Amino acid sequence: MTWPDFVLPETPFRTYFTLLLERGARPAIYLEGVRLACNFVTVAHGLTMLSSISPIDAYACFSHGLFLTATGNGREVEAVNATFWDLVPSFEAANTVGELVMYHISRLHAEGTRLWNRSWRFVVSPDCLGRCSYGACCRNCFFYWYARELCIFY
Ligand SMILES: [Zn+2]
Repeated sequence: MTWPDFVLPETPFRTYFTLLLERGARPAIYLEGVRLACNFVTVAHGLTMLSSISPIDAYACFSHGLFLTATGNGREVEAVNATFWDLVPSFEAANTVGELVMYHISRLHAEGTRLWNRSWRFVVSPDCLGRCSYGACCRNCFFYWYARELCIFY
């Protein structure tokens, strides 16, 4: 999963990737979910794909929570957030998952216009915002800071 460009539709690897997808390979579902969620036209479909494996896959779970947060569905994030912390053994592991997902997003955003910065609608602000910050956050606001990064820099 270190070089996800092969999932993009215009590459010659797409046929093979589609086969993996049809056979229900979890990394394929995760990458396709992220790719679709990166595009505003297909974001709902992407979220549905991610949610299908979110309870059992830390990468899918993180991206599910991230895109829910970045699209203003803050209340739905609570359950996903709880699941995510069950899937990762430590805060450090959570950040490792987060960083890899952010890298995948940066590689997969090629399709369509990136407009996350215009979609910044985090309606439910974490109540720990004053005490926490990027790089020194808690489990409650973990998705908030990544979503903020997504909306500002991606
Ligand atoms: Zn916090």
